[in-house]
Amino acid sequence: MADAKTTDRMEKTVSLCKRRGFIFQSSEIYGGINGFWDYGPLGAELKRNVKDLWWRTMVHDREDVVGLEATIIMHPQIWKASGHVDTFADLMRECPVCKKRYRADQVEPRSGRVYKCLGAAGTDAKGPSRIEFPFETIVPKGKPPIESGKERAKKFYSALKLSAAEPFGETISEEVSNSVDFCSDPTCGGKLSAARPFNLMFKTYVGPVADEENVAYLRPETAQAIFAQFKNVLETSRQKVPFGIAQVGKAFRNEVTPRNFTFRSREFEQMELEFFIRPDEAIEAIYGSVAKPGIGHPGEPQPNWGWEMWHKYWVEERVRFYESIGLPRTTLEEYWQKPEELAHYARATVDILFKFPFGTQELEGIAARSDFDLSQHERFSGNSMGVFDDELRAAWAKLDEGRKKELADRYSQARYKYLTKSGVALEPAAKEAKEDAEGLAKGQYIPHVIEPSAGVDRLILALICNAYAEDQAPDEKGSMESRVVLRFHPRIAPIKVAIFPLLKNRPELVSKAKQVRDLLRPLMTVFYDDGGAIGRRYRRQDEAGTPFGVTVDFDTLGEKGPELQDTVTLRERDSMKQERVKISELTRVLQEKLR
Ligand code: ATP
Repeated sequence: MADAKTTDRMEKTVSLCKRRGFIFQSSEIYGGINGFWDYGPLGAELKRNVKDLWWRTMVHDREDVVGLEATIIMHPQIWKASGHVDTFADLMRECPVCKKRYRADQVEPRSGRVYKCLGAAGTDAKGPSRIEFPFETIVPKGKPPIESGKERAKKFYSALKLSAAEPFGETISEEVSNSVDFCSDPTCGGKLSAARPFNLMFKTYVGPVADEENVAYLRPETAQAIFAQFKNVLETSRQKVPFGIAQVGKAFRNEVTPRNFTFRSREFEQMELEFFIRPDEAIEAIYGSVAKPGIGHPGEPQPNWGWEMWHKYWVEERVRFYESIGLPRTTLEEYWQKPEELAHYARATVDILFKFPFGTQELEGIAARSDFDLSQHERFSGNSMGVFDDELRAAWAKLDEGRKKELADRYSQARYKYLTKSGVALEPAAKEAKEDAEGLAKGQYIPHVIEPSAGVDRLILALICNAYAEDQAPDEKGSMESRVVLRFHPRIAPIKVAIFPLLKNRPELVSKAKQVRDLLRPLMTVFYDDGGAIGRRYRRQDEAGTPFGVTVDFDTLGEKGPELQDTVTLRERDSMKQERVKISELTRVLQEKLR
């Protein structure tokens, strides 16, 4: 549970975000709207920098990834195929007396202790991966919860005989619910209803008639558009498997418990990559075997990589990305989901967690999702999602009969498992799986996918929490005072350099400072500030996370002699060290430091 110190730190961070224009509550003048946040001038720059760096790293710096920008509202069948219509839900319980709603995984079975009251308007659902360490936990006095949210949720689900990954039915029967849980509302004593799923997708209607025929959903993730456009991208981009499609964009989830500031919002942004690879059987047919991962980064991608190597590679690449924008490895944790936590189609999932002040929580998930997604869209749309692989066809023809049978059997079994788990009857599933294996022998398959899926807003929050520091700095007269500083990595800092004329009532200083501003502005974000004492101006930029400050003073004008003429003071935010730099060298010096 969050202690006073971490709560205090979080409160200070939240208040700095508002005070300095990073993040505001959406619709604040009308009292706000729960789970929605706006980014102010500094927040908007920070967010843009982070998304641009992600795009540069994932798309522009690579040969094997291309981009996509799809619509937010798509054909509703997409969400049927993906499983979101049927299973994207959290379990919710309601008090019939006061109408308050609780997320079922936050009501402890047996004791009936309620961890979080949602208020009458709340609702939400999904598996234990969504359980949080409640920031505002409600517990009986003197009895802090001993179990973590995840442990509690596991017990809850196992008591209901539900695997977190398994889709649950329409409603958990009252009988089942009562047999494991006899709790009542902590405020009014009303007996809580049976747990029932609440779908997280926002519904809307397309066209003028608001009926079931015209229902559409705001996308709860960006990934599905990538799958739906897979064939178009493949055909137009001159890519071939293995390759990836990346997308950055808004996603919407009607979370029951939006909380921890922007951490769990109802409208947020995602940065997702779907990286399509050959099935392992194809790699084995071509290269004899698949490479096995060792410890650490596996290095440059190799043609004999199967899903395990690609998965490990993306986990390591993503951690490197976080390090490159200023989140040290020590602030991150990898959580490898246990086999019983995995969805039936997933081979492995790793959550990259960040140590937030309110608990260690997910920033990004990297999942090896087999060929599930494209297979689903093939079944639901009736359009082939398969690719033809010439190399595989040629290699297969050279295999001996034993090897052919072994690989075909393995492939067919995997397809059979997918088909039966997805609701296809046993007999047609067996027939189709056999045909799929015959297809493999001819060089055809549905690509498998590795999905690194990150949340922009969570990352922004992590970066702000990580950057927040309080230390001592000298004031005008040299005596120490405390300062708040955001130690952003220069790459992501909203403003890269602030330009200060020492005095604003000296036209020569002002005009020189403006010349410096105009010199730098085409190359980086600059902020010109001539208001108040220089120490105050430094402090304001420290709080904004600006890594460099340039002061134009009388030395710049050559008043103390020609050797310092046309030089400025360059101040570094974290060390507060100052050096004298020639204006003619300033661009190069700053660009080196910003790299
Ligand atoms: P959680 O368990 O925390 O709800 P999730 O496992 O449902 O997350 P995914 O569906 O894997 O999340 O989404 C990928 C990423 O999108 C998450 O790692 C997170 O960074 C971001 N994300 C998901 N839901 C939200 C949300 N409600 N608010 C902000 N970011 C979110």
